[in-house]
Amino acid sequence: MDIIAFAKYVPNIDRIPDNAWDYEKGTLLRSRLQMHFNSYDQVALNMALSIRQQRSDVRITVLSMGPSSATDMLKEAIAYGADQAFLLTDKKFAGADTIATAYVLSEGIKYLQSTGKISHEYAVICGMQSTDGDTAQVPAQVAYYLDAPLYPYVTDLTMNDKEFSFHCLNTVGAMTMTTSQFPLVATATKLYKKLAFYVSLDDMVRANNTPISLITVDDMSLDVNRIGLTGSKTRVIKIFFPEKQEKERQVLDSRKDNFKSEITDMIRSQIRLLGQSAELTDSGVASEQLDTSASYYSGDCVSLCEIVDGYLSQSSLETSSRCVQLAQQLGVNAMAVIVSKTDAEVVQTLQTYGIKKVVFIEDLDEDSVCVHDRARAIAAVLKDLKPQIVIASATLTGRVIAPYISAELNGGLTADCSALELRDTVLKKETYSNILHQIRPALGGNIMATIVSIYDNTEDYVPPQMATVRPGVLDAVEAPAESCEVVTVSASPYKLNFSETYTPHQVQQDDEQADLTSFEVIVCVGNAVDTPESVDQVIRPFCRQLERVFNTPVGLGCTRAIVDKGMLPHNHQIGQTGVVIKPKLYIGIGVSGAIQHKIGMEQTEMILSINTNPEAPLNSFSDVVLLGDYEKVIEQFSGQLSQLSVQ
Ligand SMILES: Cc1cc2nc3c(=O)[nH]c(=O)nc-3n(C[C@H](O)[C@H](O)[C@H](O)COP(=O)(O)OP(=O)(O)OC[C@H]3O[C@@H](n4cnc5c(N)ncnc54)[C@H](O)[C@@H]3O)c2cc1C
Repeated sequence: MDIIAFAKYVPNIDRIPDNAWDYEKGTLLRSRLQMHFNSYDQVALNMALSIRQQRSDVRITVLSMGPSSATDMLKEAIAYGADQAFLLTDKKFAGADTIATAYVLSEGIKYLQSTGKISHEYAVICGMQSTDGDTAQVPAQVAYYLDAPLYPYVTDLTMNDKEFSFHCLNTVGAMTMTTSQFPLVATATKLYKKLAFYVSLDDMVRANNTPISLITVDDMSLDVNRIGLTGSKTRVIKIFFPEKQEKERQVLDSRKDNFKSEITDMIRSQIRLLGQSAELTDSGVASEQLDTSASYYSGDCVSLCEIVDGYLSQSSLETSSRCVQLAQQLGVNAMAVIVSKTDAEVVQTLQTYGIKKVVFIEDLDEDSVCVHDRARAIAAVLKDLKPQIVIASATLTGRVIAPYISAELNGGLTADCSALELRDTVLKKETYSNILHQIRPALGGNIMATIVSIYDNTEDYVPPQMATVRPGVLDAVEAPAESCEVVTVSASPYKLNFSETYTPHQVQQDDEQADLTSFEVIVCVGNAVDTPESVDQVIRPFCRQLERVFNTPVGLGCTRAIVDKGMLPHNHQIGQTGVVIKPKLYIGIGVSGAIQHKIGMEQTEMILSINTNPEAPLNSFSDVVLLGDYEKVIEQFSGQLSQLSVQ
């Protein structure tokens, strides 16, 4: 059998040289960027190699779409152990968004099949996302185009003669999906760490002697209207730099004598801060209704909601609330679509947030990640509702369902937005009002991009402008609707009946941690905390102590470094690919403050950093810096806290 491992050649976003930015235009000079093998795809290749260790008849093919210089990366993949590599390369592919990329990659696979380079029994294994785009959309869209089941967020896998068993993460926890269905698409997370690449001199010689086959548009029978910029359903209309905020900072050095008294004063001021009532935001007030005379799109606004652990998720309320606000501005209705048994309580809650119609899709397991069935059923409902805007939460499940739906609707999708605004916009040389500006971080948070959907609005069916928004970014604001219509549809006609079984796992969640966004105080564990024992013996007791002093529950967050090491589950991760928090107090323990982390916590009222390095980026936007080894600082901090709690 064949394993196709995708490989994307991406800029090293951690090392963007200053001279690569054109600060005036806000663009990047790509020729000045250092390029490398997407680290998630390296994990996928690693998975493919371990499958070949379990089954000797496996052939590994690496497939990439990119510039001709990507052959260097493909040679690297051959040196790691891949059997053959192909590069889809053509100027006409340039400017492709995810949907145009997924189309070319899936056609590339069909081409390899038709030319006998791979068999009909194959599995595509790719990284869950790329480090530059970070959208996680392409794998789901490729699965759609190949009519294949998708197994996202694989942390481990086993295989025998007939079946694959994938251990996958989902919004609720984890599950094992077992399948004998081919083709299939699986995406790798960095929790999978089976092999380390080993490259011998022989491997290097073999890589050098293995030709990388180039495949161009002329080699494949492609629909040229679906490739490159022409085939893209989204356009970047603006790029800008995230705002830099300089704060007045208090630096307390643990080596100085007055550290203890300073820390006590600081804690007292925190208690005062927490005692103040939360400020009310005005985001629930709808802006004035805009002039809709020159609208490009028409229809209602739909929020795709999720049931998590039996309850309507908080992030569903956030997307619903934004839909209600946008609908008010547009003078249309806000609706919700949800995979769930019809539930009066859910209707009542959504109505409280202003939703006027709820469509329940029944006959599907609410907790499963059976992306294909859910997405097909939701897409069918959306085809019927014909909304102009669809917003989903960028949860683990939302991030794979939404791209699958966008492929089915042949529309664009912007992942992980941090803001959604209606603005006058020039589309096809005319100015239209009320176009959805989808604003998101790009290139690992180094820049922000404003993206719009662009379709032919003269067609019978015009897809919606679709976006996902990270949990915690939007405010959920009550704005009761007078009534709420309820519609129930069955998912049965849309089930693909792939031969698969799944077993949900009770993931060890600690719990109280279900929703990190709900805490007023969050302690965030960074890479400096290097063992699970340190989390249990130093950090958790510190949290419990803070709870007693501040009289409020304390949430335990972490950086991606901690999730990647498998020390805490993903629902603890703060940042661009985790949750966005806005607590009153954030305490970063050994956290460097990388831009991707900052995006998720910079709206905190008071930031406290405990770090050995005075130059750590987190310190530069913290209110208080406690310099020193975290164990020693916490020991002293705790000493002062216990004195305060008995006063
Ligand atoms: C596309 C993309 C998305 C990403 N998304 C996220 C995201 O959502 N969330 C996220 O967090 N990251 C994300 N990352 C990763 C991010 O770039 C950083 O690698 C990560 O945040 C670093 O975690 P850290 O601060 O814990 O570790 P490090 O960068 O290793 O920092 C450790 C810090 O601890 C300090 N330290 C060391 N020893 C001690 C000690 N004994 N006591 C006190 N301090 C000490 C060090 O000085 C350092 O500042 C993403 C990266 C990419 C490319």
